[in-house]
Amino acid sequence: MGYLTDTLRALATTMRNVFRAPVTVEFPKVIRPRAVRYRASFALPDDEYGEVACIGCLACERICPSRVIKMRMTGKRESPVSGKKRNYVDEFVLDLSACIQCELCIQVCNSDAITMVREPELPSFEREDLVLDLDKLRANAHDKTASWGRGTILQEMQEPPKVAKPPKKPPATATAALEKEPA
Ligand code: SF4
Ligand code: SF4
Repeated sequence: MGYLTDTLRALATTMRNVFRAPVTVEFPKVIRPRAVRYRASFALPDDEYGEVACIGCLACERICPSRVIKMRMTGKRESPVSGKKRNYVDEFVLDLSACIQCELCIQVCNSDAITMVREPELPSFEREDLVLDLDKLRANAHDKTASWGRGTILQEMQEPPKVAKPPKKPPATATAALEKEPA
């Protein structure tokens, strides 16, 4: 008897859910509104001269806990746009498939040369498609919306509050003169 009741209860649950509106959407055909601070992928923006801002300082590669950033630079050379000597990154690879989205790479970049973007990469059956190279990262900077969090902003937020200095003591001679004065 108990078996029959359980079967009927399970059947009722099934029937209730068959006619319920789905709670999932078919991503990426349908994209739900994202939270303001949502960030999903990466970009390497340009500097004020339209060149890649990254100077290949290795700070982001070194801090990445998942070791998914790799880069190669060839040292200083003259910029064809500004005429100034600067370092260039010639290869930059970020393997998004193993990134844990900790954002440490963004936080250490003093020149805001790497940012996160709000639009995710398209889902893929191949892990290789989620490896972002220099071209893809630069294209993301033009085509996608940068997240609010940049290195300089995040560093400023983490700075300890400045402690007010105690008032200066008067010089010893002035204190002694005051003490000698008759009441
Ligand atoms: S993105 Fe920033 S931290 Fe990373 S190598 Fe380039 S300049 Fe350095
Ligand atoms: S978000 Fe974290 S894990 Fe992902 S690339 Fe940056 S430092 Fe590495």
